[in-house]
Amino acid sequence: MRTSEEYRNDLYKMKPNIFIGGKKVGRDDSRLQGGIYVMSKTFDLAEHPDFKDLLTTRSHLNGRKINRFTHVNQSAEDLLTKQEMIRSLCHLVGGCIQRCMGCDAINALSVATYAVDMEHGTDYYKRFTEYLKEFQSRDLTAACAQTDVKGDRSKRPHQQDDPDMYVRVVEKRSDGIVVRGAKNCITMSAIADEIIVVPTRAMMPEDKDYSVAFAVPADAEGVKIISRTSRLRAPPGLEMPQAEIGDDEGFIVFDDVFVPWDRVFLCGENKYATLSAHLFALFHRHSYTGCKPATTDIIMGLGALIAEYNNVYDRHNIREKLVELAATAELVYAAGVASAVHGTKTPAGTFLPNEIYANVGRRHAGLNYYHELEILAELAGGLPAALPFAEDFLNPETRPFIEKYIKRRSDIPAENVYRCLFGISNILCSSLGGVQAVAGVHGGGSPVMEDIAIWRSYDFEKRKNIAKYLVGIKE
Ligand SMILES: Cc1cc2nc3c(=O)[nH]c(=O)nc-3n(C[C@H](O)[C@H](O)[C@H](O)COP(=O)(O)OP(=O)(O)OC[C@H]3O[C@@H](n4cnc5c(N)ncnc54)[C@H](O)[C@@H]3O)c2cc1C
Repeated sequence: MRTSEEYRNDLYKMKPNIFIGGKKVGRDDSRLQGGIYVMSKTFDLAEHPDFKDLLTTRSHLNGRKINRFTHVNQSAEDLLTKQEMIRSLCHLVGGCIQRCMGCDAINALSVATYAVDMEHGTDYYKRFTEYLKEFQSRDLTAACAQTDVKGDRSKRPHQQDDPDMYVRVVEKRSDGIVVRGAKNCITMSAIADEIIVVPTRAMMPEDKDYSVAFAVPADAEGVKIISRTSRLRAPPGLEMPQAEIGDDEGFIVFDDVFVPWDRVFLCGENKYATLSAHLFALFHRHSYTGCKPATTDIIMGLGALIAEYNNVYDRHNIREKLVELAATAELVYAAGVASAVHGTKTPAGTFLPNEIYANVGRRHAGLNYYHELEILAELAGGLPAALPFAEDFLNPETRPFIEKYIKRRSDIPAENVYRCLFGISNILCSSLGGVQAVAGVHGGGSPVMEDIAIWRSYDFEKRKNIAKYLVGIKE
């Protein structure tokens, strides 16, 4: 397994194909360091006594010790451990741990490539397995680029006026394919070794050119990553882990990118493109049942702390709000547990989360995120939006006044109150706090997409039959 230093050095050796703020930059750009810090935790903690059982496992391919973010889940136990790992790591990085997208992509492709081979006699699964061996042995990180730019939302890929609105194959050669298009909102694409591309929606027979899945190094010729970076605000002079944390979201252009056949995992099989789109969403929504409770834990912790400092922790109005947060966190987590326990083993050997439970969990989280922020804003009062900067808190001319007037309970140091409000301000008022809020709704698929998944697979007929039985309707 790699160390975080090796991961960093490998990134810095890549061709500069990242664009930030009007300039082409390398991966050593300071604006990417917040995201790299977050990803580094997944390497640094792999040998840590408290985390090694969560972060490492054995490859089902060769029994070697691997990072769990490169693992294809083989059992309910694997899914449960992944969920717990994500929740624990997200606590340390104040939100998204960023490495699960690639993990969810390899899990989805392990099932889809096997299924397509069974029907068509193709050899995608063998190619994928070779890729997975490399992915595991080199301890790689991957962004999963699923979300196409999509153009006119009322039209399918082949109906678009501009045929490049969904990533498509523009040329097939003896040695590989050439792809064109763009994917947007792709988390950590500027700090990943690889980009794994899967389709974003159900594909019709007319969408064959768009029915493509593949992997490329993130600096492959023709790949351009236009990155939007954001940070939690750092308080100069006051050390806190929050100050290190950042994120990058990539707008990835595939400007006629060549992909050799051994990295092509679907090419034209629209039924299995549809399956891989659904499967990535399913694995990712299961991962969300780990990370979303973690973000609620952070909101809950800060809310409880400021209430304690305000000396109103046990008041009825506070208790009600904290219990609501706890109920949201644990219901989402419980949905993930149920999804793992009621999952199924696929013919490929990969263990699939239960679709209904993963989707109801993700849906519940997505519908509640802004409400959770509302609760935090309510608990904190208005000061997080108007908090003096850390430089002013530390300035000897202003510090005594801020300390005197920010104080609540006499036994709580003013600096603790300041730090707590600073943390809340980062959730409610920073650039990354804003990104996390939108991600809370749309990341992993907006609640409406979970509605579609639930509508597709839920047994409403069974419920109608219960109703008929109870009211004596015999047919
Ligand atoms: C911070 C963040 C991180 C993300 N990370 C990733 C990532 O790593 N990888 C990845 O692949 N994706 C990622 N996503 C993308 C995410 O999955 C999408 O944002 C989500 O699926 C919604 O798609 P969209 O943004 O294109 O919204 P749109 O599809 O533009 O939807 C906008 C609105 O239009 C409505 N709408 C759209 N089409 C129709 C229709 N046909 N009929 C009726 N209504 C319609 C929707 O319901 C919604 O209300 C991320 C998103 C965010 C915000």
